[in-house]
Amino acid sequence: MTVAEDTAVSLAGHRVTAARRAVLEAMRATPGPFTVEDLCAALPGVGRATVFRTVKLLQEHDVLCRVVLEDGGVRYQLSTGGHHHHLVCSRCGGVQEFADPALDLLIQQNARAAAFALDGHSLELYGRCAACG
Ligand SMILES: [Zn+2]
Ligand SMILES: [Zn+2]
Ligand SMILES: [Zn+2]
Repeated sequence: MTVAEDTAVSLAGHRVTAARRAVLEAMRATPGPFTVEDLCAALPGVGRATVFRTVKLLQEHDVLCRVVLEDGGVRYQLSTGGHHHHLVCSRCGGVQEFADPALDLLIQQNARAAAFALDGHSLELYGRCAACG
């Protein structure tokens, strides 16, 4: 992960694309949930603004999951794709995904019952994973 800003700039119009690719590769190389700070540390040659923009973009395209921890902290991890929820382990920090269409239907019904125009939802369950007991 050593795409220097100079090298990127010399690629003229492809500057952002090259940097984005570097950010994506840093994500692939990072096991488990990471912070934007972790990414910045792994990408000394890429500007913070670019890292933040790329994170936002990948999140909007469902490539990246944003996981809110119990203490309000935020972690990211590459998504397996599709709508899902998270099981967040407070001991090892691991984040597992689960999908449940029946649960989503209930959420939609609750929103409708409250005459609430639902745009989306995210769900994080906090506790300890099977390995941490
Ligand atoms: Zn996820
Ligand atoms: Zn755990
Ligand atoms: Zn859901």
